[in-house]
Amino acid sequence: MSTLRSITNKTYAVYGLKNFIYNNRLQNTQVKKNLSLIHVDTQTSKMSTQAVDLKKIACQAIDESTAILGQLSQEIWNNPELAFEEHKAHATLTKFLEKQGFDIEHHYTSPTGFRADFGTSEHPQPHVVVISEYDALPEIGHACGHNLIAEVGVATGIGIKAALQHALETNQQIGKVTVLGTPAEENCAGGKIDMIKHGVFNDFDFALMAHPFKITMARPLKFALDMVTVKYHGKPSHAAGFPWEGVNALDAAVCSYNNISCLRQQMKPNWRVHGIITNGGSKPNIIPENTELCFYLRAPTVAELKVLSQKATQCFQAAAMATGCEVDIEFGEKSYANMVTNSTLAGLYEANTDEAKVALCTDEALTKSPTGSTDFGNVSQLLPSIHPMYYIGTSVANHTREFAVASGTQEAQDYTLRQSKCLAMTAIDVLCNPNLLVKMKEELHGQLQQKQKQTIG
Ligand SMILES: [Zn+2]
Ligand SMILES: [Zn+2]
Repeated sequence: MSTLRSITNKTYAVYGLKNFIYNNRLQNTQVKKNLSLIHVDTQTSKMSTQAVDLKKIACQAIDESTAILGQLSQEIWNNPELAFEEHKAHATLTKFLEKQGFDIEHHYTSPTGFRADFGTSEHPQPHVVVISEYDALPEIGHACGHNLIAEVGVATGIGIKAALQHALETNQQIGKVTVLGTPAEENCAGGKIDMIKHGVFNDFDFALMAHPFKITMARPLKFALDMVTVKYHGKPSHAAGFPWEGVNALDAAVCSYNNISCLRQQMKPNWRVHGIITNGGSKPNIIPENTELCFYLRAPTVAELKVLSQKATQCFQAAAMATGCEVDIEFGEKSYANMVTNSTLAGLYEANTDEAKVALCTDEALTKSPTGSTDFGNVSQLLPSIHPMYYIGTSVANHTREFAVASGTQEAQDYTLRQSKCLAMTAIDVLCNPNLLVKMKEELHGQLQQKQKQTIG
């Protein structure tokens, strides 16, 4: 059963003047719209007294670490590092978590991965994993806000640890938390896919993370994603004297790009293909012998992505045939799966947003639009998972210089700590009621079975 509750400015006023930034944001039309309605699942919001107490302890622990968490985030933001090169972030985060009393495994499965554990997880006590990402983008730094994802992971871990510690003091072992440092999410580098191959996620019962974005929502749509490299091989010749003796690999590259543009007209609304020419030849007076393109292909499900990949392959082959070139089509080894949001877990998260004074967006034009891809999609097909997106004080898109600036502001800190509280409280709901875990796992099993039966229309 669910209730529908209007949030008015008057209701909002009860939150008090504690957070001027947050109140000030009400002037923003988008946020006003976001606040208009919030769905609260009354069933999932019922909490045991133990959960209520532990949630308070978790939120307090996060609040007490506000300054130090802000510094940690700033340090990562000021030192943007690319996929698998996040050595400074690895050192900053592991040092911090070690001081907080976690058991650390440095360089976990890769030089810049880490694992930080606290608690016991004997059956049937749940083991929650919270994800920290920390890689940046070339040229534009932390334009996806992964410095904040790192902070959310660590802050949520601190909150859950405080709750577990309190329970232990009264001889109650209710579960275990791991903060997992997962490198290399951007640019199809697939850090989590490597960890899955190492069996890392077999240790956990459910997974949580949160990602900065232009709105806040619990159930974002995330595309399945494949990367493909296309190489054309022709024959060089003097471009002025004997062009007819050459076979032009740049023409093949341009044709393939245009073939994809033609295909785009018949693509489904939620399919995406975007690419660049990474090698267009060396000099204008030499007929280009070798060229290379890189494309990303995306679709709402892995099954649809296969159909799209087939069509794109035909475009690449046709360009080779038209120009007389040879072609090599190499799909990346790390396919990103679409995100499978666990509805039970998302319901718990949504119920906790109220307590943490987080406003969920209810504009379906925004919440029903795909938001990109993530290797956390692969995790979500193994474990009950949520990947909320959250507002950080700007309505600009990710992967822009403006978003990079927003990710380093004090305003983003406020929103980030609220998200950490939401995630920590969601974990505590499950830790205090392991029956929820059974429900979450059954739901995931059902979702995956249903997907297998799906036919492509
Ligand atoms: Zn990104
Ligand atoms: Zn990102």
